[in-house]
Amino acid sequence: MSDRELYCDTCEGVVLFEAPPCADGHGADCPELVCTGCGAAVLIATFAFRAPRLGRRRGTTRPPHRRAA
Ligand SMILES: [Zn+2]
Ligand SMILES: [Zn+2]
Repeated sequence: MSDRELYCDTCEGVVLFEAPPCADGHGADCPELVCTGCGAAVLIATFAFRAPRLGRRRGTTRPPHRRAA
């Protein structure tokens, strides 16, 4: 269980948020947090979206584009 303090609009202040029981199988990576003050659920975007994977790399590494001199 990971707790963290965030600003809650409803509580109008910094409140302790905690991860709710996840039903989506996110496990420890669940982006959802619930305000312990008012019970509002929030999504932590920066926590939800990691570095995007640009396609699948299968060993073939292309050299970076070069401008013809
Ligand atoms: Zn979840
Ligand atoms: Zn709140």
